[in-house]
Amino acid sequence: MYNSKSMKAEEFICHEEIEDTLAFADENRNNKEMIRQILDKARECKGLSHREASVLLACEDPEVLDEMEALAREIKKKFYGNRIVLFAPLYLSNYCVNGCVYCPYHHQNGHIPRKKLTQEEIRQEVIALQDMGHKRLAIETGEDPVNNPIEYVLESIKTIYSIQHKNGAIRRVNVNIAATTVENYRKLKEAGIGTYILFQETYHKESYEQLHPTGPKHDYAYHTEAMDRAMEGGIDDVGLGVLFGLELYRYEFAGLLMHAEHLEAVHGVGPHTISVPRIKRADDIDPDTFDNGISDEIFAKLCALIRISVPYTGMIISTRESQQVRAKVIDLGVSQISGGSRTSVGGYTEELRPTDTEQFDVSDQRTLDEVVRWLMETKHIPSFCTACYRAGRTGDRFMSLCKSGQIQNCCHPNALITLKEFLEDYASAETRAIGERMIKEELLNIPKEQVRKITEEYLVKIGQGERDFRF
Ligand code: SF4
Ligand code: SF4
Repeated sequence: MYNSKSMKAEEFICHEEIEDTLAFADENRNNKEMIRQILDKARECKGLSHREASVLLACEDPEVLDEMEALAREIKKKFYGNRIVLFAPLYLSNYCVNGCVYCPYHHQNGHIPRKKLTQEEIRQEVIALQDMGHKRLAIETGEDPVNNPIEYVLESIKTIYSIQHKNGAIRRVNVNIAATTVENYRKLKEAGIGTYILFQETYHKESYEQLHPTGPKHDYAYHTEAMDRAMEGGIDDVGLGVLFGLELYRYEFAGLLMHAEHLEAVHGVGPHTISVPRIKRADDIDPDTFDNGISDEIFAKLCALIRISVPYTGMIISTRESQQVRAKVIDLGVSQISGGSRTSVGGYTEELRPTDTEQFDVSDQRTLDEVVRWLMETKHIPSFCTACYRAGRTGDRFMSLCKSGQIQNCCHPNALITLKEFLEDYASAETRAIGERMIKEELLNIPKEQVRKITEEYLVKIGQGERDFRF
């Protein structure tokens, strides 16, 4: 039976509740009065329940769709302004004991080279990432207790944080590793991780079991309950995600929101981020064999609806998506994007993008400098901010600041400060010129005079060689 407060996966992601929700959404997809009420509620920025949001997803009226997208843009602007936070994935190892049928690292794939970075190789990769200008990483490994035990992950985090090369520093390491124990989550917390990210892949239990035929990941409940264990282990910020294309998108969308509602109901704080990957081509993987792929239009609708339904949750999109798709969904609600990514193990130290150990095909292959320039040309401020995590603004402290609207007084100046660092240390001449102009203009958009003055002082100091200021 459905119970958002239950600690059992099959009760807080209840199959019957999702089926009922989809039936309710179908019945009311043309119910103008109900749709009007839901949109009015969304306009108050208090979020929507999985049932309400599912009705909007089922509605195909072009006028309602336009209104939803306009509202998503409005909410995005209100909570995130025109800033986009940048990060890069860092693949440590592609050894994996699981049999996920959509991933080239699956255990049965005998022809993909297996690789695990040594600490020295991690150092080299991180230096390459620092030299691009990155400050925020998401580390990724396959699940393999022999090759990638938790000790390896912990040692790697320590290595990453310890590397000071020129003016570079990785200031936030987010972690995307397999579901694990409370004790291991506690160790990750102690190692100083930012967000713990784990994609559910699909919320549909039967499909989940078929898509994960072998290995520990086969256990749906253990995987689905991982975020509760992570929070029990002290990790405040967790990141959800589904792999769109595996199951029917309306089912996944309802499941995703139910998961967010569960975290809020049990832990008092919802997910820090939601990722929206779509299945892509890779070694041994043909996305056309999965018949639940979604069009760019549906994808954009999903992004808009996630923004409306959970206004305080960051939304992440990777280089799986093309420049064109990224441009559209950034305005609809995405707040973080990766840039200059290599999705292979050891890819950043190679001159050309290696494809032999790639986890997925990278659609957006621009350099970080090009992505930064493009963002500015399209009137977005690229931000390398990591301030909240470092100031202890995580979990409910972060959420209450967000809900009070005061976070804006940190995000905007921090974006300008970290952009200035990027321009000074890593940008091409063209990017730098555009960036300096943008900083000048955007300084005027800091509402509090005192904050503006301090930001100006910080900017001068950064120009003189000092680093690492934050609000
Ligand atoms: S998705 Fe993760 S767990 Fe599954 S095969 Fe790939 S690396 Fe392994
Ligand atoms: S101030 Fe906090 S919420 Fe804002 S961009 Fe920086 S880390 Fe993110």
